[in-house]
Amino acid sequence: MTQSASTKKSAAKASKSKATTKAPAKKKAAAEASTTKPKSTKPTKTKAAAKPRAKKTAWKSRAVLRTVEAGNSVDCQVCGERIKFRAKIRQYQAICNVYENGKWSHVEHFHDECYVEAGRPFGKPVE
Ligand SMILES: [Zn+2]
Repeated sequence: MTQSASTKKSAAKASKSKATTKAPAKKKAAAEASTTKPKSTKPTKTKAAAKPRAKKTAWKSRAVLRTVEAGNSVDCQVCGERIKFRAKIRQYQAICNVYENGKWSHVEHFHDECYVEAGRPFGKPVE
């Protein structure tokens, strides 16, 4: 009886000491998170740190190249001319999703050559 009690005790002690060593770190992290949350400076920082990789997939303005379909009725942002479908040649247009402050704002269309001429304002078109 005494033996089992002592093993129980030591086991309890071991788990307790483990818990006490872990708890402060956890508490500190939680406190840190709660203090930085209202400011939201830390989350942005961590995002920025991960940016090099996620740069292309982040919610930023970006462009894609798409074929011009029949009935297309949008104007090029550079030359102001209608981006027209032509039956004989496969024409491409750059469609750019423009994000402002991380939020989708609007779409801009360009002739693909006009887009290049403009210096790819929304980056290299992605697939
Ligand atoms: Zn154009």
